[in-house]
Amino acid sequence: MSMASNAYLQARLSSLIRYCLEHELVRTATFYAERFYYIDPAHHDARHLLATAYLKSGQTHCALHLVNLQSDNTCPGCHELVAKCCSNLGRYAKAREAYEFARLYAPNAKGEL
Ligand SMILES: [Zn+2]
Repeated sequence: MSMASNAYLQARLSSLIRYCLEHELVRTATFYAERFYYIDPAHHDARHLLATAYLKSGQTHCALHLVNLQSDNTCPGCHELVAKCCSNLGRYAKAREAYEFARLYAPNAKGEL
């Protein structure tokens, strides 16, 4: 697959998954997010969107595993996802810490991805 069509596919998948998440079509979002992640596991949006879909579908550990990284390849929304996962799992200290990171790195936060 060429780079161009790959980028096109990534953009299409990304907007499709966002649409599904916005409209609470969680199973469909998860389906496409898993494919997106399979195509390009290093792509930030792929990981971020799959984590969001997993969190929404109650697969908290899977979601946390995807975004709980010491990496430059994260966004404030990733830290927020970590925080939500940790709260769900009762890890409140870690959740507070992740919320702090989200705030620190998002001085002009525009909300979730
Ligand atoms: Zn992110």
